[in-house]
Amino acid sequence: QVIVRLAQRPLGEIVIGEHLVVDRDVPVREQLEDGEVLIRVMWLSVDPAMRGWMSSAKSYLPPSPLGEPMRANGVGRVTRSKSDKFDVGAVVSGFLGMQEYSILPEKKIRKVVVPDGVSPRLALGVLGNNGLTAYFGLFEVGHPKPGDTVVVSAAAGATGSIAAQITKGVLGCRTIGIAGGEEKRLWLSNSLNLDDAIDYKNDDIGKALKRTCPDGIDVYFDNVGGVTLNEVLKRLNRGGRVVLCGAISSYNTPGSPGPSNYVNLISTRSKMQGFIVLDYAKQYPKALADLTCWLQEGKIKYEEDIVDGIANTPEALLRLFKGQNLGKVVVQVAGD
Ligand code: NDP
Repeated sequence: QVIVRLAQRPLGEIVIGEHLVVDRDVPVREQLEDGEVLIRVMWLSVDPAMRGWMSSAKSYLPPSPLGEPMRANGVGRVTRSKSDKFDVGAVVSGFLGMQEYSILPEKKIRKVVVPDGVSPRLALGVLGNNGLTAYFGLFEVGHPKPGDTVVVSAAAGATGSIAAQITKGVLGCRTIGIAGGEEKRLWLSNSLNLDDAIDYKNDDIGKALKRTCPDGIDVYFDNVGGVTLNEVLKRLNRGGRVVLCGAISSYNTPGSPGPSNYVNLISTRSKMQGFIVLDYAKQYPKALADLTCWLQEGKIKYEEDIVDGIANTPEALLRLFKGQNLGKVVVQVAGD
């Protein structure tokens, strides 16, 4: 089988062939232990968080081990089983890793449940981690109310696009999306019907926020950190809520300084809070039921950026850092 191995931990940007290495003809273990299953990987999720998992810094998960297939969420089909819980043919998800075949104990995987007629890969995106992250970031941290002004960064990405559609289409908030490039800006305005959209790469972000949020900002769903976060902090309303979902602008430059405008949190009595979606696992069934319902009602839609072939997974990861993706990046390994 082909695997993508974590060969070295990056200090700055990820270099393909140095940090992530493609190995061919890697044998798959023959014998399964009791409780284990052999899974044919169908789809792999590609996530900015992988940059953190590649590092040795302390975080919410241990570092992805060096010399092994890089950690990755995936969906696959059980092809051999020594588990009473998962029969051959079951479609499951979990940290399957960047490889074509994965052997895991039954307690490390879950059955994939998606509505009839859609690919199980949705369980990696809108009906999985990204939809859930948008959902809990908003409802557990941001608490947007109808009529609030909400700003979402990386709004054309997997998580941001869902967060923005929930606040706009489900909650009725005035929603402004930020993304890089004219094409994404137009997509946010015309396809997602947001109230306004900012192209941070070709506009002055401070002036653009002033123009699009004349009455200030109540909730900021932050995926990027950096300059954009700092400019939003300047324009918070009293009692503002800043949802720290991610900070991709600093993932390749760990240790970069935080926002100087944080003092505005004091005068505006605002809060800024981080969260990790995994902490809400007990509430996933209700959240997935809501997300499925909004999808079926057309209140949220999703885009996918599908990259073909396990060997292209490292390039797929770099697409996120270059902003080349619209919506969810997934790698097709074997497909459905
Ligand atoms: P996206 O699909 O949003 O892809 C990442 C996007 O980030 C790119 O498309 C790009 O969009 C933008 N970007 C890349 N580099 C920069 C930069 N230097 N400055 C500003 N924007 C940049 O990825 P996800 O939806 O998977 O993840 C979005 C965020 O959510 C990440 O920060 C991730 O770490 C976080 N996350 C947090 C979770 C949690 O539990 N807290 C769980 C899952 C994700 P553009 O073209 O607009 O620049």
